[in-house]
Amino acid sequence: MNRNQVLPQVELSSEPNALKRVDFCAPQSYKGAGFLSISDLPRVAEEASTVVSGDGFNWDLETHFEDSPGSDPRQILELDLKGRLHLVCQRCLQDCAVDLDEKRRFVLVTSEAEADDYPLEDEEQEPLVASQQFNLLETIEDEVLLSIPLIPKHSEGFCEPHASVFGGEDGEEVDDKRENPFNILKNMKKN
Ligand SMILES: [Zn+2]
Repeated sequence: MNRNQVLPQVELSSEPNALKRVDFCAPQSYKGAGFLSISDLPRVAEEASTVVSGDGFNWDLETHFEDSPGSDPRQILELDLKGRLHLVCQRCLQDCAVDLDEKRRFVLVTSEAEADDYPLEDEEQEPLVASQQFNLLETIEDEVLLSIPLIPKHSEGFCEPHASVFGGEDGEEVDDKRENPFNILKNMKKN
C-alpha cells in the first residue's frame, strides 16, 4: 500500500515563525511555499553587504514517504530555493547581486546516530534528524548559507579591480568610484 495515499497532506504556514516548529514525527506529509526576506534570516543578514528591495528567498517544499525495502518507509523532504542577496564583489569591492537557485533533497532519520551513520557518498540526499518541533527555518537558512559563493564577483567584464585588491601602496589614493558606504564602515571599524 502506498502510504502517501492514506496520509493527510498538511499545508505549511508561510509565516517564518511557524516554520520554527514543524512536527516531522506526525503521520502526515507537508507542502508549502513562501518568501523569506533577509531580515527573517539573521545569519544571512550578517553576510549581506546591503539589502535591496526584493532581496530574499522564495522557498517551495514538499515531503512524502518512500518505501524502503526491509524497513519503515522513509520520509523525504524536497526543498527548492530561489532568490537573491547582495554581497561584496571580491574584484571591485562594490555590492554585487548574487542569485541563488537551489534544489535540495533530504531524508528524515530518527536520531543523530542514524544521521552520523548515513553514507556520505549519497550525493542525492542528506539526512536530517526528525523531531516534533523541527526548525525548518534554520534548515532553509543553512541551505542559503551553503549556497553562497565563497568568492562572490560581478560577471566578467562588468567591473574593474579595486586598487586595494592589488594591495598597492597608493591604493587609498585611487578614487575613481564612489566608495561603498559599507566598505567605509568596515574600514572605520578596522582602524
Ligand atoms: Zn565587481
